[in-house]
Amino acid sequence: MLSDIHGNLEALDAVLEAMAGERIGHYLCLGDIVGYGASPNACLDRVSGLTTDVIAGNHDHAAIGKLDISTFNPFAAEAALWTRRQLTPDGRRYLGALPYVWRNDDLFIVHASPAHPEEWIYLSTPWQADEAFDAMPAGVALCALGHTHTPMIFEKRAVEEPSRPIPPTALELASERRYIVNVGSVGQPRDGDPRAAYCVYDTEMKKIEIKRVPYDLESAQRKIRKAGLPDMLAERLEFGR
Ligand code: ZN
Repeated sequence: MLSDIHGNLEALDAVLEAMAGERIGHYLCLGDIVGYGASPNACLDRVSGLTTDVIAGNHDHAAIGKLDISTFNPFAAEAALWTRRQLTPDGRRYLGALPYVWRNDDLFIVHASPAHPEEWIYLSTPWQADEAFDAMPAGVALCALGHTHTPMIFEKRAVEEPSRPIPPTALELASERRYIVNVGSVGQPRDGDPRAAYCVYDTEMKKIEIKRVPYDLESAQRKIRKAGLPDMLAERLEFGR
């Protein structure tokens, strides 16, 4: 599972290389393929060639004018407008056709929160996780999402118990419990660790693991600066902020 690539081709390629060594049977992309980074079209090509199981993020919609960017901060808005000018007609069509959610029998994915997927709510507190658990489809034990660019795991032991956060590393899923996993960001981590993040879900062993991989950060920064995007978008990659 990979999320929040944000046009960072160097980070995406490092993640795909790491994942290629892991016997991944099924790739899922949790949205925000574009926005912020300097390689939106190349990232779209990679993802669309990798899997058809891809959902939309708010920046994907902002880049095609499907989301009002007046609530974006100035850097995000400038990047959205820049991305809008770069996209090919095929890229625009592709982003416009992405669904808000995807599910199978034991996994539900959404970019921001199962509670109102199209409202792009940030999910970072146990209280918000409780609301999200209530909105998950019945019978599904695991929800994976992105949006905050910060790896997180919430566990719900029983309906009447509040959600609790657990360290976002490796975890065996206990039966009869439910989980929400934020898989972190490939292209713009914000948890203070500049390495690209991705998540592997071992469906046989019922284990999830959030992994990190270094990438050619300087090259991604150079491209951002060369494209005339806000310098702050290059700078933040170095600090994972
Ligand atoms: Zn994002």
